[in-house]
Parts: sequence; C-alpha cells; structure tokens
Amino acid sequence: MKYISTRDNKKTYNFIDTFLNGLAHDGGLYIPKNIPRLSKVTLKRLSKLNYNDLAFEIIKIYTGNTFSKSELKKIIKNSYQEFDCKNVVKFSRLKKFNLVELYHGPTLAFKDIAMQVIGNMYETILSKSKNKVNLVTATSGDTGAAAIDAIKNKKNLRIFVLHPKGRVSVTQRKLMTTINSKNVFNIAVKGSFDDCQTLVKSMFSDHQFRTSINMSGVNSINWARIVVQIVYYFYSHFRLSEKNKKSVFSVPTGNFGDIYAGYVAYKMGLPISKLIIATNENDLLYKFLRTGIYKPSKVKFSISPSMDIQVASNFERLISSYYNNNSRKISELMKQLAIKGFYKISKNILRRIKNIFYSKSVNAKNTKKTIQLVYNYNNKILDPHSSVGLKALEDYYSGNSKKFENLFCLETAHPAKFGETIYKILKKNPTIPSEISKNLKKKEFYKVLPNNLNKIKNYINTNRLH
Ligand SMILES: *Cc1c(COP(=O)(O)O)cnc(C)c1O
Repeated sequence: MKYISTRDNKKTYNFIDTFLNGLAHDGGLYIPKNIPRLSKVTLKRLSKLNYNDLAFEIIKIYTGNTFSKSELKKIIKNSYQEFDCKNVVKFSRLKKFNLVELYHGPTLAFKDIAMQVIGNMYETILSKSKNKVNLVTATSGDTGAAAIDAIKNKKNLRIFVLHPKGRVSVTQRKLMTTINSKNVFNIAVKGSFDDCQTLVKSMFSDHQFRTSINMSGVNSINWARIVVQIVYYFYSHFRLSEKNKKSVFSVPTGNFGDIYAGYVAYKMGLPISKLIIATNENDLLYKFLRTGIYKPSKVKFSISPSMDIQVASNFERLISSYYNNNSRKISELMKQLAIKGFYKISKNILRRIKNIFYSKSVNAKNTKKTIQLVYNYNNKILDPHSSVGLKALEDYYSGNSKKFENLFCLETAHPAKFGETIYKILKKNPTIPSEISKNLKKKEFYKVLPNNLNKIKNYINTNRLH
C-alpha cells in the first residue's frame, strides 16, 4: 500500500511514514494512492469473522508488511482485552434504529477503539527501531483521554496533550489529568479547541522544531486512526444488515475523522447508501452540503463539546477523493481557504458528494429533547453527541421515501462522560463503571498555559524525551 499527500501526489510514502509523521511535511494529509475495492467473495468471507479477526484483515490491507502477522494479531488482542464487552462494540435497538455502542473502552468514548491500537503500534515500532518519540496532540476532550490511556507507561514515548481550559467536561478532564504517569503531560490552554489544534498544526509545520523533538501526532488526522475506525462499519453491517439492504450510518461529527472512515468503507465496497453528517450548532458541514462553500466561522460552545469544531481537518481527504487526488487543485483550494477564509467546489462535485452524504444540524433544544424522549420511552440514556446523531437519523428517516435500508446511529460516548449535562436534563446521574469512578478521585496533574505558541513550545522542549 502506497500513500501520497493530499497536496502532492508525486511523492509516495509507506504506512510507517504516515504513522510517524501524522501530517505530511507539505501541510497535507496522507491518503492511500488507491483505496482497494473488495470483491463480493472477500466481503462474504469477512462477514463471518469476529471483531478482532475482522480488524486484523482490514488493518493488514493498510499496514502492508509493517508488522508481521503475529505482531499485528498481538497488537489487536492487547488493545481490546480490557474493553468491557466481548466484541469491542455492542448493539442495541431503538424502534427502527440500530445503535452501535462504541464506548466500551477505558475512557468511555469511541476514540479508545483506534487509540489503543495506535499505542500498541508505537510500542511495537519503537522497540525495534530504538527511536524515541514525543507525541503532541490537541483534544476537544475525548482524544486526549484516549491517547493518554493508550500511551501511559509506555517506553520510548512521551505525550503532551493540549485541551481548551474550562471547555471540557469535568469527567473528560479528570480522565486525562488523574493519570499519574511520568510520560504524560497535560496542558490546559486558555482558548478553544480550534486554538489548540492550530497550535499543534503550527508545531507540525515548523520543520526545525518538529525534527528537533522527533515529534509525532495522534490527532484524528493520523491515517492509522482512520484505518482502525473502518472496522466497525464493516462489523455493524455484517452483524445486523438484513438481506440485500444497504446501510445508512449517522455519525456525530466534528473533525470528520469518524465519518471519513465510513466513507473509506464505502469505497472499499461495503454497501452503504448514506453517511449522515450529524452536527451540533457548529454547522459548517451542513451548510457546505447546501451551498458547496466550506467556510469555518467562530466556534459555538455547545452541550456536545467534542464536536465544537469549525475546522474539520479530515474533510480535505474527502475533497481530495472527489477531485481524484488532484493535489494541485487541493493546494489551490487550501490556499483560498487560508487567504479568503473559504473555498467553493463545483456544482457537479457537490452533486456527487450529496449522492452519498446527508447532513443535519441539531441544536441544543432538540438534543435535550431527544435525550428526554429516549429515556422516557426506552429507559436508555444517550450522551449528547449520540443524541445529535440519533436526531439526525430520525430526520433522514422521516424525509426519506424509500425505507429499505438498515439504519445505524453510532453512539460515540458513554453518557457518564457528560454527567452534568445529563443531570440537568433528566435529574438523574448516569452510572459510571466502578473501575473508572475509582480512578477519577485521584489527584489531578496539569499545567495552565496561555494561547501562545512559543510558551507552549518551551514547555514541551523542557519536558520532552531526549
Ligand atoms: C471526537 C468525537 C466526535 C467527533 O468525531 P470526529 O472524528 O472528530 O468527527 C463525536 N463524538 C464524540 C463523543 C467524540 O469524542
């Protein structure tokens, strides 16, 4: 498998380059030169596998010979052995809708599914090469916790996590800051998530700094995360699809990583008829689907904070795919975005995007109402992100005349992660798994820093692994 950057399709890379670099040196994102299309026979064979074996088959396609067969099997097994259900994800049914519970990992959000694998991939790669790596990542709340849990106590690695101060829930913060491990550094930045992401991107584009600290990233721009997330689209369809029906997935969306993985599954031949971009009040992708104009504005803080994002980084990968990986065109669009603050795609491409994508923006009132209704009628507590996803799916379903589809909503977090919000709506606290609640009582460690690139670089430089 060969990779290219969205902004330069001449140079090729292998999986390990994409993995260790995160972001390409030209500022673009890594994408496969070609996404392989699986045959009907292969799909049929894969449909019989349990989660770990399916993950092995899919990840293997993208990692090539980076890991031996036994290494990759071990990486997957170690990653998922502490999940509290047998096959990594669990399903539940709500009227016509299938909910895919993706939050059975150690930090209660779907990000554990990819991040645990990434932590073990790092360990396997670094133990062979004797390299040392400093990871720097921005988080809107869930990535940080998942990354810290995956990286804590691992050799040859340090992790620096930037979160927007006061903009993540208490449980989200504690899941990051109560981990007392010598290789973990939490930084609370006085700013928004987009500020944190901009700081990390600036460090990545500073070639001198980046190489001097041997910097790597685990943000959702890391190609390996996308690869690991492809698996549950296949698994959900294989387990629950009814005969010959295509599947619809509603995906609570921020940085466009999760839903882009669904798009890759679609390109690989999984029968998906729609991918629903479910957004909160940060509705730039909803507006994009109406107008063809991609225009970030100011972040609005919502009750689904992990989606309070106005720069959907992975979207560049999707646009690249629709422009047949024409990197000159993508560079041009990204330049327009940088200079004018927006770009516009052609009518023809927008029409093609709308064949497979649908979008709905769900405000706080409807998010709360959905949580209340699902609790009243089904005695199930949805977290606010998943509620946005379900409401968008209901919207799609009610406006859609052909009802011959399997309807899935990805549940991206456990409601206990957003206990304060849930309490305000239901006057009830979701129960948190006892293993986790015990840890959250421990002392917190984090450093507060201003939204200032040099100050943050200095802090990282002082504490990094040499
Ligand atoms: C990260 C996150 C999202 C958004 O996922 P993207 O890949 O950034 O689109 C949605 N819900 C929860 C709970 C998250 O943690």
